[in-house]
Amino acid sequence: MDMEKLVSLCKRRGFLFQSSEIYGGLNGFWDYGPLGVELKRNIKEAWWRDMVTSHDELATPAGAPSPYEMTGLDCTIIMHPQVWKCSGHYDLFHDMKVDCRECKGRWRADHLKDAECPKKPSKRPGEHSACQLTEPREFNLMFKTIVGAMGTEEDAAYLRPETAQGIFVNFKNVLDSTRVRVPFGIAQIGKSFRNEITPRNFTFRSREFEQMEIEFFCHPNTSRAWYQYWRDRRFRWYTELGLAGDRLQLRDHDPDELSHYSTGTADIEYAFPFLPPGEFGELEGIAHRGDFDLRSHMEGKLDPNTCPLEVERDEHGQPRYRGSGRDLTYRDDISGEKYIPHVIEPSAGADRATLAFLCEAYTEDEAPDEKGAMQKRTLMKFHPRIAPVKVAVFPLVKKDGMPEVARDIYRALKQHVVAFYDEKGAVGRRYRRQDEAGTPFCITVDGDTLKDNTVTVRDRDSLKQWRVKVDDCVAEITGRLQ
Ligand code: ATP
Repeated sequence: MDMEKLVSLCKRRGFLFQSSEIYGGLNGFWDYGPLGVELKRNIKEAWWRDMVTSHDELATPAGAPSPYEMTGLDCTIIMHPQVWKCSGHYDLFHDMKVDCRECKGRWRADHLKDAECPKKPSKRPGEHSACQLTEPREFNLMFKTIVGAMGTEEDAAYLRPETAQGIFVNFKNVLDSTRVRVPFGIAQIGKSFRNEITPRNFTFRSREFEQMEIEFFCHPNTSRAWYQYWRDRRFRWYTELGLAGDRLQLRDHDPDELSHYSTGTADIEYAFPFLPPGEFGELEGIAHRGDFDLRSHMEGKLDPNTCPLEVERDEHGQPRYRGSGRDLTYRDDISGEKYIPHVIEPSAGADRATLAFLCEAYTEDEAPDEKGAMQKRTLMKFHPRIAPVKVAVFPLVKKDGMPEVARDIYRALKQHVVAFYDEKGAVGRRYRRQDEAGTPFCITVDGDTLKDNTVTVRDRDSLKQWRVKVDDCVAEITGRLQ
């Protein structure tokens, strides 16, 4: 698939726009247009529903060690700066950057091998005789801001680079305010910010993006089994929504890629069309994090290089970054056992998922026009659950009472699903526009409707058409969408 065609469709049909475009845009920031906002909302809602609200805590799902509970949170973007000191982001959340003193280019050191020299795109940075690359230097990815009117460094705060920490610091609040028992998960969807050195590949690497994260708390003895469960469950979720086939893969990290407190990390990856053949980009990471996070917020920042984990100390032997001092252990009210739960973290990006679904949906085929001649058509084959618009309603012509009937059908459908009404232009062109928007069904009111009270329903992918009674339109569409 040609990425340029998708990017152009996204702009033309209102899926994605560059942020602040009329001022030349801002690198790494994207806006979702009228169709894009529905698509992304549907993806986030499918995630929330499938992971949280429709989860059956009374049953043991296939592959899970036991039943479990799920609940949610919505935390702030700006948090107490100590959160980021204890989590390790303040010290460790950096990429290495390389600058060229000659052309002022800037790259992530680990991306140099895929980058182009601005002076000679056939070469990599550093390969041209004029290149003057600096040594790799650390660059913290957190956006800094100031809270309050004083404007001093003491008031510095950060935009969160991940939603996870809000969950850890609320662990006790959730335990105290609900009746959840371990094992249970807390889910959150929200914006995160990273001052990426080289945002690129459309929305894949943005500076402002949304994450869909779960922190799943379990007993240390069962954590390995829970890790396996979440790794498989999350992979299946993408396939259920249409990312099937060999473009999607689950990749286990090599043991030497893991921090020693983690017994496993796996990435769910998609072969995005902008990547070289055979390369995959991360959609979601599933990590076994042990008790690293809860202990860090309790005791102070742990040194990830110690084994067993110990609090990192300064030259006076004091914790480098003090924890909250709050007791974040869990007491099992049945067994009486007290322990710090282990954490399994499935961490997904809503924008990367949206981009993968857009890439997967983009299809070109041929369809007959009104005269039966085959014409090229572009369609977005979204799974009906995530399609921005579920059904479009057209009167064949703008007369003979057809618009009145079509509007009534449209209003009835609108009570149940996102529907679209269109009476402008040739009906063939109206179908094409809905194909590009990814609308699974179109309903057309025509001359026969006025005689036998039936309409034509058309399927986006197969182009099959069939007739349905006007009064049955809502049941027909809602039934098929399920
Ligand atoms: P990468 O290696 O691609 O920078 P990461 O391993 O740092 O990603 P995580 O910290 O594991 O990513 O974040 C979890 C998820 O958040 C990622 O799988 C991705 O879907 C999303 N994400 C992370 N960074 C970005 C970004 N800059 N733009 C869009 N989504 C992102």
